Amino acid sequence: MSLLRFAQPKAPEADLQKTYDAVVVGSGAAGGMAAHVLTSHGLKVLLLEAGKKLDIEQELRSMEWPYDHPRRGNMPPEYHALTSNEYTIRQPPYAKGMPYPKVFSYVQGWGGSDYSKNIVVNEKEHPYTGTDYAWVRARLLGGKTAIWGRLALRLSDYDFKAKSRDGYGEDWPISYADIEPYYDKVDEYLGISGVKEGLPYLPDSIFQRPTRLNPAEVRLRQSLQKMGRVLTPYRAGVTTDGLKHNKYRSRCFGRGACNRRSGGCDIHAAFDSPTGLIYPAMDTGNLTLRTNATAYEVTVDPKTGLARGVSFIDTDTRQTYEAKGRAIIIAASTLESARLMLLSKSPAHPNGIGNSSGHVGHNFCEHLMGPSVSGLVKDLVGKPHTLDDGRPGGFYLARFRNLDQKQPDFIRGYGFEGSSGLGMFPGNAYDTPGFGSGFKKQVRDYAGAFISMGAFGEVLARYENYMDIDPVVKDAWGVPVLRFHYTFGDNERKMAADMAATGREMFEAAGIEIVHSDADILTEGWSIHELGTARMGADPKTSVLNQFQQSHDVKNLLVVDGSSHVSASCQNPTWTIMALAWRSCDHLAEQMRTGEV
Ligand SMILES: Cc1cc2nc3c(=O)[nH]c(=O)nc-3n(C[C@H](O)[C@H](O)[C@H](O)COP(=O)(O)OP(=O)(O)OC[C@H]3O[C@@H](n4cnc5c(N)ncnc54)[C@H](O)[C@@H]3O)c2cc1C
Ligand code: SF4
Repeated sequence: MSLLRFAQPKAPEADLQKTYDAVVVGSGAAGGMAAHVLTSHGLKVLLLEAGKKLDIEQELRSMEWPYDHPRRGNMPPEYHALTSNEYTIRQPPYAKGMPYPKVFSYVQGWGGSDYSKNIVVNEKEHPYTGTDYAWVRARLLGGKTAIWGRLALRLSDYDFKAKSRDGYGEDWPISYADIEPYYDKVDEYLGISGVKEGLPYLPDSIFQRPTRLNPAEVRLRQSLQKMGRVLTPYRAGVTTDGLKHNKYRSRCFGRGACNRRSGGCDIHAAFDSPTGLIYPAMDTGNLTLRTNATAYEVTVDPKTGLARGVSFIDTDTRQTYEAKGRAIIIAASTLESARLMLLSKSPAHPNGIGNSSGHVGHNFCEHLMGPSVSGLVKDLVGKPHTLDDGRPGGFYLARFRNLDQKQPDFIRGYGFEGSSGLGMFPGNAYDTPGFGSGFKKQVRDYAGAFISMGAFGEVLARYENYMDIDPVVKDAWGVPVLRFHYTFGDNERKMAADMAATGREMFEAAGIEIVHSDADILTEGWSIHELGTARMGADPKTSVLNQFQQSHDVKNLLVVDGSSHVSASCQNPTWTIMALAWRSCDHLAEQMRTGEV
């Protein structure tokens, strides 16, 4: 049983005869924010979500102990999670021909997979083709925010104006000053915990109470200070002090469940789109929600070429419908949004809606993962046990490459996420030899003394990295699927070599004995931070959207998710996705008020 349950608001039934002020596609971070902002301006909004509304507290059961679950939290044995090897030896569609009734992406190989088995999509129903890509999708009300990792970081002008610094790619059509007020709004509306560090390349948020670093992490932080590098407590998109204006969310009780499983918090201290954005939007009386509604085309008024509505298929009955809106907001997540735009072909938009530039699906970027290091802090061995994993995250080590000094081998940067200390299950038990009381003592003595971290680096946006529609393969609902044409390049490989070297160096400098390190790059897509595919820009010939995420071609069409990002930076994207969506929807509401749209 979850600790807290709040009465959920009721939304009116969708009225498909009516023209809504706006139809929003997708209910994750981006779509939830669009619904919140537009309804708060008094606009009548219909939110279409392909997935179901799950009884999410019952799914997550954050308080359930491993021994109260028949399989210690694991999903049924006949279900399969793709392994890292399968992503390299098989080819998409990875699940094709596999004997299991359900096949999931790699995140279902983590602990507690039974709690997310209805959240992450079944690859058998949702295939894709082309080059290797570990695509993690969540189809339910709230999308991936139901299980996201909560690291909530800002971008800076080191990112927005990266081309001006190193000459590669394109600058964003906005600067930090444009988005800063919206980052502030997101912080205050949703809650974020962290510590101010005053770094120009990782701007501070308006933080609530931070979580504490444990002794091994403090040691690493202090050692890094001598190198001019900054390790800071996890900046978590979690309300640690509570939010007086939101009755659907509780403050964080430090139970650590979100950190032990693939994510999720059943008291919603960690941000998720339904309790953070959608339920409050329903309370305005302006939001209508239609779940089980998979959009497959943005329809067009043939006279004006403007967007008229969204055709969708009922995921259960497979019947098709059209919902109509004065403005259409696509927020189906980076890759799904590109898919929907490319599927929306009409005489007015023969390459797909908003795609006169030919850039939809292109300039894809994300974060590179793989290099990591684990070590032992010897003087913590045998120390009294402490509660270390009762927190929503460990630490973040901010970018330090290509700030003041240029790296000779590669451009852009990377950061590390990591943690240390005692967990609910001592992972070192697997590698400790022996048995009996000696074995148990050894496991217990060493359990809290390990520290590890893994790097996340910027993958450069390149036109040649793109997705298009597969001419043959369709998903379980008959909708043509995406085909990937995407690989890492030389800059990524050189950056990965540097990540592996600096990870080791930093542990050695802190006197941490290295027990394991990895230099290999994980399969493309592993970061779950997909970006690009409908980038913003000033020039309609080389970009898809203007700085307000509004289509250059179709002024009543907005694309408010990560597809609008011009470059990936190395910081996790969700806080930026929401700040941009807020800014763009404020702008749209003003344009609708003045009759411009
Ligand atoms: C395990 C995990 C850890 C993560 N950790 C972090 C982190 O620490 N920090 C961070 O910043 N980010 C993290 N992320 C990424 C983060 O979740 C995403 O950046 C964020 O959710 C993106 O929001 P979105 O609205 O674009 O997409 P989503 O949240 O995926 O929402 C898209 C929604 O659109 C719906 N949809 C898709 N296609 C259609 C269609 N055709 N019609 C109707 N609806 C449709 C989907 O069902 C979904 O509900 C993590 C993700 C995962 C899975
Ligand atoms: S640590 Fe906080 S955010 Fe995480 S599950 Fe517990 S209460 Fe929720």
